[in-house]
Amino acid sequence: MHDRIEQAADLLARSRNAIALTGAGISTESGIPDFRSPGGLWEIIDPGEFSIDRFLQNPGRFWRIHLDLKASGHFDLASAQPNPAHYALARMEQLGVIKTVITQNVDNLHQKAGSIEVVEFHGNLLRATCIKCRALEPIGDVEARVATGEEGTPRCRKCGGLVKPDAVFFGEAIPPKALSVSHVQSQRTDVLLVVGTSLQVYPAAQIPLSVKLRYPPAQVIEINREPSALHKQVTDVLLLGSAGEIVQRLAETVEERIAAMAC
Ligand code: NAD
Repeated sequence: MHDRIEQAADLLARSRNAIALTGAGISTESGIPDFRSPGGLWEIIDPGEFSIDRFLQNPGRFWRIHLDLKASGHFDLASAQPNPAHYALARMEQLGVIKTVITQNVDNLHQKAGSIEVVEFHGNLLRATCIKCRALEPIGDVEARVATGEEGTPRCRKCGGLVKPDAVFFGEAIPPKALSVSHVQSQRTDVLLVVGTSLQVYPAAQIPLSVKLRYPPAQVIEINREPSALHKQVTDVLLLGSAGEIVQRLAETVEERIAAMAC
């Protein structure tokens, strides 16, 4: 492991345009379950509940399930705090190494940890949006209206349209700006740091494939508890274990390398 962290740190310290792609696994050490690991969300809730079709069929039912999930303590994003992996990525951005974090997460923890350039590929579950006029409001305000019984099916204060969490549901398109920024960054990057994602959800999983298919290919560093579905095709340096521990060690080693290179 030590040698591979050194190898990964070397790649990052020498990179010109490193970016990170993160998934639910980076936030499990903040107490938020991922989807597919043992104890993950799919053991608690039917993934179909997060499909846009089912939401549109019965939005009131979705919001009740959402509140129950939050009350159960399994998915209380508002109270979650960043862990050392989020802080280490923010530190590498401050050092000028990581230029952008593309996250599939909807938990706002990169921003809470201090990362500035964050692409929310799947939106943000701390916001709610009107599906008609796209007005945004804090999700807590909508939750309060449902919880107090003021509204069973919450409606937009501006236009009366249906309100849903501002996260991408199954069957919905990726926000166009997130898609285009990710595409540009993937074209430019020379080192892609993949953290805590099984790379089974598309089009996000296309990002590591695309950086390998172009010439010259980027180097891919992967940090996961279990190897991703694409590790054989894309990964150059595989670091298996806790993201909190490994990303922190990696950032410290990168910082040492940069200091040494400056001497
Ligand atoms: P996933 O559940 O498919 O895979 C998680 C990956 O992270 C696995 O490879 C697992 O081995 C690894 N992992 C888990 N805990 C880890 C840890 N502590 N350290 C290192 N690796 C760890 O998640 P995914 O690939 O992100 O795809 C599923 C979708 O889940 C995403 O679209 C995302 O929007 C959504 N999601 C987000 C959150 C969140 O915002 N925190 C939580 C659950 C699901």
